[in-house]
Amino acid sequence: MPGKKCPVCGKATFFGNECTSCGTKMNVPANGGKGGKGKKCPNCNKYTVFDGICNNCKATFQ
Ligand SMILES: [Zn+2]
Ligand SMILES: [Zn+2]
Repeated sequence: MPGKKCPVCGKATFFGNECTSCGTKMNVPANGGKGGKGKKCPNCNKYTVFDGICNNCKATFQ
């Protein structure tokens, strides 16, 4: 099955946090907030947004 699209080589070969095509590694916010870095929350300015929800202030983003 296809992986996520790699932002570097553009192929859908991104599995987990590594592209199997070009070897690019990324910290993807897909671990449910268990210590990884999420997207930046514009509400509290912390990198704790996973799947559209900030784990810090509980703000939701769509
Ligand atoms: Zn790649
Ligand atoms: Zn927040």
